[in-house]
Amino acid sequence: MSGMDPDPLTLARGVASGDRRALARAITLVESAREDHRPRAEALLAALPATEGALRLGLSGTPGAGKSTLIEAIGMRLVGEGTRVAVLAVDPSSARSGGSILGDRTRMEQLSREPLAFIRPSPAGGQLGGVARRTREAVALCEAAGFDVVIVETVGVGQSETLVADMTDIFALVLAPHGGDDLQGVKRGVMEAADLILVNKADRDAAAATVTQGDYAAALRLMRPRPQDPEGFPCVLTVSALTGAGLPEAWDAIARLWAWRRDTGHLARVRRDQRLRWFEEEFLAQALARLHGDARLTSELRAEVEAGRLSPPEAARRALAS
Ligand code: GDP
Repeated sequence: MSGMDPDPLTLARGVASGDRRALARAITLVESAREDHRPRAEALLAALPATEGALRLGLSGTPGAGKSTLIEAIGMRLVGEGTRVAVLAVDPSSARSGGSILGDRTRMEQLSREPLAFIRPSPAGGQLGGVARRTREAVALCEAAGFDVVIVETVGVGQSETLVADMTDIFALVLAPHGGDDLQGVKRGVMEAADLILVNKADRDAAAATVTQGDYAAALRLMRPRPQDPEGFPCVLTVSALTGAGLPEAWDAIARLWAWRRDTGHLARVRRDQRLRWFEEEFLAQALARLHGDARLTSELRAEVEAGRLSPPEAARRALAS
């Protein structure tokens, strides 16, 4: 960001008018790791119109399961119907190493050329928690820009799924058919978060896909009844991102579940809880940033704690109160 950048209010107006360049710049601003960019980023977020109408879909799966092929196929169908689709990526590998499992190759090439679509790769570097924080903000920016559907994609390698489930309305897991009798090491927490499991690549071996579907359906049944779900959810569907088989049904299930949750008030409740957790996470992150950023506060209190003159809890209380 240079000194030539528009002020936050102008940027917010640009975003709200659907200007894609303004949206891209706004996301760059909120993703910036520079502390001196934060006040402008926060002013920008505060100036956004209060729109919460988008369907926020979290989508996760192991590398190679077919996430980008699937998003491209579903995205092309949606833009074909005049639906505006934004895709954001959370990539835990880029948070750890600066490299990316989601890849540097151009993903979703066809969709990225569509005027109704907006695709944003994962922010590089930083902590996973930091990437997730900024992705929440990017979701808010996409909603303000008028996107009807915001897809948050993540590679399924552990904790990132729960982060994504906590910033979306519906969480879908993409898997390839498994060969054996294991459940591909899908963690219990991830299974619990899943509203839909999409067994992809059914075109390759329909029988294997059906067996996998049955195994996961059985695992889901063992796990819970969930009062916030209508009849038939969570569900496991077989699809082929390559041929398009099963995709209309998969999207229909997502849209039906979303509409049901919206109409029954569950969606409003979930989003309210998500906003509260977002506030708490921000509070912790900002308190930590202040502790590390304020040399005087840090050194004085640290010295007292090190010398054993001040108890750590008391020091923390003073740091927060100062
Ligand atoms: P991602 O890493 O989860 O985003 O996976 P990709 O979308 O990049 O797909 C990985 C590989 O699987 C690519 O070579 C795709 O062409 C292939 N693939 C994706 N979906 C399907 C499918 O439905 N059927 C078949 N046969 N191949 C698929």
